[in-house]
Amino acid sequence: MTVTVGFVGLGNMGLPMACNLAAAGFKIRGFDVVASARDALSKIEGAEAVHELRDVAVGAAVVITMLPDSPQVLAVLSGPDGLIAYSEPGTLLVDMSTISPQVAKQVAADAESHGLSMLDAPVSGGVIGAEKGTLSIMVGGADADLVKARPILEAMGGNIVHCGPTSMGQTFKLCNQICCAGNILALSEAFALCRSQGGDLSKLRDAMSGGSAGSWMLNNVGPQMISGNDKGGFTIDLQLKDLRLVLETAMASHVALPGTALAAQLYQSELAHGGSRNANYALHRVIDRLANQPVTG
Ligand code: NAD
Repeated sequence: MTVTVGFVGLGNMGLPMACNLAAAGFKIRGFDVVASARDALSKIEGAEAVHELRDVAVGAAVVITMLPDSPQVLAVLSGPDGLIAYSEPGTLLVDMSTISPQVAKQVAADAESHGLSMLDAPVSGGVIGAEKGTLSIMVGGADADLVKARPILEAMGGNIVHCGPTSMGQTFKLCNQICCAGNILALSEAFALCRSQGGDLSKLRDAMSGGSAGSWMLNNVGPQMISGNDKGGFTIDLQLKDLRLVLETAMASHVALPGTALAAQLYQSELAHGGSRNANYALHRVIDRLANQPVTG
């Protein structure tokens, strides 16, 4: 029997993820507040776009959310018109957005009190990973729920890690974001120094990628940083949202994260220059300005 999967949030990540699920044989019922996103889904074989949020849950064994931040997840799932109120008992909710671990716990408790179960399952790997179905998926929640979700997650990701109980997926994702921001900052500084000495940045990239400074970031976004193509899929406003979640979580636990705090301040500067919709690797623009180098892109 074909399994129906509800999908809410058909943006840069959600749409290609829903497409991969449809290609793997799941029947998709998708919703987004933006009409053009619903239109894009309705063109996909095996997928249907619905016009009311509550219709996503009809006949769905699993409902996935891929939304910007905690307030949207709370509104879509727990709000007065949220899906928790409309889903059949036994439905599995899988939130793949990056949100606060505290909110993940709160929504999971709400789901449980209505006879539903929930996994937090944020992802890493960017729009490229969403398109290729190679996302790294960090799962928090019960073993039995992951067993149920695994065939669905495998249609979207290649590296599925059960991180621990509810909210531990979100905690792992925040740790992941500390490393991403630090890596982008280090690359931005390396490129600025190299350029100041008249070095060829593409050759620098080739040299570093085979050694101990090699990284996913260098391979996948290094070329865009060098060319100044700053219009990628993971925007600075989402990156700053993640760093805010990191710093709020750290402050509540008295964990000092000076490097992440610095990266967040530098990202703020790109917002001040109107770059909120630029890709997260456009942090190089801030470092270029500090070095009085021409800002490309
Ligand atoms: P996006 O802004 O492109 O997409 C979010 C979608 O949610 C939009 O289409 C928006 O219209 C929709 N939406 C917002 N509120 C809604 C509501 N109340 N009901 C229904 N739809 C609603 O964002 P994205 O880049 O797809 O990111 C989604 C999540 O994934 C975020 O939490 C982000 O941090 C995380 N993430 C993104 C990337 C990336 O590279 N873009 C990578 C890893 C994780």
